Amino acid sequence: MSHTDLHDLSVAQLAAKLAAREVSSVEVTQHFLGRIRQHDSLGAFLATDREVSLAEARAADVRLAAGERTPLLGVPLAHKDIFVTRDFPTTAGSKMLENYRSPFDATVVARLGVHSGAGMVTLGKLNCDEFAMGSGNDNSAYKPVQNPWDITRVPGGSSGGSAAAVAARLVPAATGTDTGGSIRQPAALTGITGIKPTYGRCSRYGMVAFASSLDQAGPMARSALDCALLLSSMAGPDPDRDSTSLDLPALDYATDLIAASAQGTGATPLKGLKIGLPTQFFGAGCSADVLQTVRGALAEFEKLGATLVDVSLPLTELSIPVYYVIAPAEASSNLSRFDGVRYGHRAAHYTDLTDMYKKSRSEGFGDEVTRRIMIGTYVLSHGYYDAYYLKAQKIRRLIAEDFQKAFAQCDIIAGPVSPTVAWKIGEKGDDPVANYLADIYTLSSSLAGLPGMSVPAGFGEGGMPVGLQLIGNYFKEAQLLGAAHQFQLATDWHLRTPSLR
Ligand code: GLN
Repeated sequence: MSHTDLHDLSVAQLAAKLAAREVSSVEVTQHFLGRIRQHDSLGAFLATDREVSLAEARAADVRLAAGERTPLLGVPLAHKDIFVTRDFPTTAGSKMLENYRSPFDATVVARLGVHSGAGMVTLGKLNCDEFAMGSGNDNSAYKPVQNPWDITRVPGGSSGGSAAAVAARLVPAATGTDTGGSIRQPAALTGITGIKPTYGRCSRYGMVAFASSLDQAGPMARSALDCALLLSSMAGPDPDRDSTSLDLPALDYATDLIAASAQGTGATPLKGLKIGLPTQFFGAGCSADVLQTVRGALAEFEKLGATLVDVSLPLTELSIPVYYVIAPAEASSNLSRFDGVRYGHRAAHYTDLTDMYKKSRSEGFGDEVTRRIMIGTYVLSHGYYDAYYLKAQKIRRLIAEDFQKAFAQCDIIAGPVSPTVAWKIGEKGDDPVANYLADIYTLSSSLAGLPGMSVPAGFGEGGMPVGLQLIGNYFKEAQLLGAAHQFQLATDWHLRTPSLR
C-alpha cells in the first residue's frame, strides 16, 4: 500500500492495519518521524530521537509477529514534556530542567509503552508551558507553538504541543495534563478531542508536579474513540507510587463505543440523557461566535435524543481567584525542590549557599513561574494563610457542592471550553490576568475534581475551531466518552483538518 496517508488514520484504524500486518510499526514510525521533521516550524516538539523510536517500533513488531493483538500495539504517540521518560529528556518546558534525564518512566508512560505496557511507540516529547503554567503555550522557555489552523495564533495551553501535534497529524495521539484546563482548552482551540479524567483516575507518578491536588493526566486525540482506547491503558490504581490514585480497577472504555459504531446511529441513541446548561457558562463573558457554535452542537445532541435543562453554578466567577490562590500555593511548595543542589539548573557563579539558591532559581525559572511562586508563598505565609489560602479552600468545597446540586437535575453538564477561539500569539502581551480570565469555564470542574472533556463542535471567528465542554460526575468518564462518540458518529467536526503548507 502507499504509506503517504498513514497520518490521516485514527488510532483505531492504525491499530487495525498493524494487527492485519498490512503495515509494520517501523514503517508507521518512519512515516510520522518524517512528518514531524517536515512540520518542525510549528514548534510542537521539544525532543525526538529516531534511534529510540525505531527501536521501540521494532519491539512492537516483534510482539505483533508473535501474534499478540492488543488494541494499541505498534501505534505511535508522543508525550507532553511534563511526563518523565527514561529514553528522552524531560524539561517541563523550563530552563530549570534543560538536558534533564529521568532515571525512570512516569506510570502513564510505562503503561502505554512498548517495554512493559500497551505497546505504543514514543515519537518524542511535546512542548508545553513552563511547569504547565499557562493558557497559550507562550510560557514555554524554549519556543512558542503555532496553531496549525492559523500559525499566527496560539494552540492553547498548557498542553499546546500535544494539541498542535495531533491537529497537524504529526502524531495520532498524545498525552496531556490538566490542572485547570490544560487538556480541554488546547483541544478546543485546535479542534481535537481530549479528556481530563476524574482526579486520581490516572497515576501522577512521574508527572512533574504543578498543583498536586488538581494535576491529572489524560489522552488527546482526534476522536472520543481514540481517547477511550488510550485512557483504558493509562488509568488504574498505582497504590505504591501515588497514594491519591483511585482504588478502582482500570476499565475498558472502548468496547462499548466500538459496539455503538457497529450498530450505527439509531435515531435517538442519547434518549434519556439530561444535559445541564449552567446559565453562568452562557452569559456575556462568552463571545458570540463560540456561543453560537456551542448551541449548534447542543441542538445536535437534542436531535440524538438528549434533553437540555437549565442548571446553575453560582460560584463560577469565584473559580478564578480560588484557583489562582490554591494552584500557586501548591506550586510554590512543589517547586521548592529545584534548589540547584539535587537536580536541575545550578548557577555557574555564586558566593555562598544562599546566593547559589537565589541565582539558580532566578536563572532557571521564567517570569510566570516566578510570579506564581511569589503569590503562593505569600498566600501561605503567617498572617495571610487564613485570609487567602483557607478561604479559597472553603470556597473550593462550595464549588464542588454546587456541582452536586446541578447533577441532581442532569447527567452531564455542557458549555463552552474557552470564551473565545484561539487568539494571536503575543496578543495578551505580558498581562497574566488576561490569560487567567480565559480559564473561566474549565477551572471550576478542576477544583471539584470532576472529569471533563472537549469535543470539536464547529468553527468560529477566523475559521478557528470551537470546543464543546462536557463535564461528568465523578468516575463517569465512560458516560462522557459515550455521549461524545454518539455526537461524533453523527457529525464530522472532529474529522476536519487544517491545510498545512
Ligand atoms: N491555564 C491554567 C494555568 O495557567 C491551567 C494550566 C493547567 O491546567 N496546567 O494554571
